[in-house]
Amino acid sequence: MSQQQADVPEMDDFVARAEAFLAERYPRRDQQAESEARRFVWGEGSDEVKVFQEPDPEEEADALPAIRRWRAELWDAGLAWISGPVEYGGAGLPGRYTRAFERLSRRYEVPGDSSLTVSLGMIAPTILQHGTEEQKQSYLPAMYRGEQIACQLFSEPGAGSDLASVSCRAVAQDDGSWRLSGQKVWTSGAHLSDIGEILCRTADGPRHRNLTTFLVDMTAPGVEVRPLRQMTGGASFNEVFLDDVPVSDGARLDEVGNGWPVALSTLSYERNAMGHSAFGGAGLLSTERLRELVHHLGDPADATTRQDFGELMTELRVARYLQTAMAARARGGSAPGPEVALNKIGLSENMDRLGRFVSGVLGGRIAADTGEWGTYAWTSVVLGAPGYRLGGGTDEVLKNNIARRTLGLPRAR
Ligand SMILES: Cc1cc2nc3c(=O)[nH]c(=O)nc-3n(C[C@H](O)[C@H](O)[C@H](O)COP(=O)(O)OP(=O)(O)OC[C@H]3O[C@@H](n4cnc5c(N)ncnc54)[C@H](O)[C@@H]3O)c2cc1C
Repeated sequence: MSQQQADVPEMDDFVARAEAFLAERYPRRDQQAESEARRFVWGEGSDEVKVFQEPDPEEEADALPAIRRWRAELWDAGLAWISGPVEYGGAGLPGRYTRAFERLSRRYEVPGDSSLTVSLGMIAPTILQHGTEEQKQSYLPAMYRGEQIACQLFSEPGAGSDLASVSCRAVAQDDGSWRLSGQKVWTSGAHLSDIGEILCRTADGPRHRNLTTFLVDMTAPGVEVRPLRQMTGGASFNEVFLDDVPVSDGARLDEVGNGWPVALSTLSYERNAMGHSAFGGAGLLSTERLRELVHHLGDPADATTRQDFGELMTELRVARYLQTAMAARARGGSAPGPEVALNKIGLSENMDRLGRFVSGVLGGRIAADTGEWGTYAWTSVVLGAPGYRLGGGTDEVLKNNIARRTLGLPRAR
């Protein structure tokens, strides 16, 4: 299909329209920002401190209708996929319009989109890159509208870093459809998802050439999702068992046996999406919150604390510049290459630094649940940090990839 062109509005007009959309529906956040930062550190009751913790699966499921509603409203207003192609429901505007809207929406109490990171940050771009015209028409609008949420079914008990050794099988049927059987693990958000991008083995022989990807219906007979409890207390990922699950050939993504390049695309998008949170200004890595922490519970005059804080700020800033440079390349039309993994490595290293910094400021107070505000609750950050080194490809493996594929160094022995 030929690309349809959008009428590009003046930025001021776009911002005014987007602001009116947000203001009509959601309270402004500005006045609350300071008290939120204070509450983050001090709290007013032990429940408040839950802001640090992994969401409970039931709470996440309860929040889902509001997220789907928010996506549907965005869709109706032409704001759900601002830079997406017009032919699939996007607004077709340059990336700066998306960024302008993201900046605006941070000022309002909009439902958080973090449960859609896999769906919209990884699976949707993969469908756009590898899907048939029919698949793009059918999945992409539904995903951006929040009607369909997707998860990533790659890892297995015997296939993590060595992903090409997946053993989940897809067997072709006489009528052209497929049946899937096997086990996936560490599937983030499977419990909230309607569909999953699944990597399966379709034949024996060369490992990378006999894999195929499908978009499996997570509610199909034979799919069983079991939550995994993490040491942080959360349960955001799952084991997924597939027992003779029927999948139509129309849900096959790309050619039979061509699943490996499809999976690599998804993994590149994943490393890019994870890197977005590698710098300060939002969420856990907010510099505001860290300053509050040091001022209220630490010793701001202490030379070591000041030096550590300075180093942490510098690393966050470096990660932000790196992310900006990668994003600019992506806007120029280049698909993310192996070097995009630097963003993800930046995130995991900064999470690690954050955990060490916070532990240093709080000392023993981080280890005992005394009820003192903004202390013990940080344990979920400290305990969650190691997971970032693994998710999206382990740091060690990503460094190997960068060494070989970007720097051209010889394979490690
Ligand atoms: C928070 C989180 C969310 C996740 N979400 C998903 C998801 O949604 N979908 C999904 O499919 N998977 C998901 N995963 C799984 C993730 O992709 C795997 O954990 C990852 O690929 C590593 O695989 P593994 O756990 O089997 O570890 P292994 O591959 O067994 O690695 C164990 C250790 O050995 C090291 N190692 C392995 N091979 C090499 C090598 N060649 N050189 C040097 N060191 C090596 C690794 O670096 C690691 O330290 C998630 C994981 C986490 C932590």
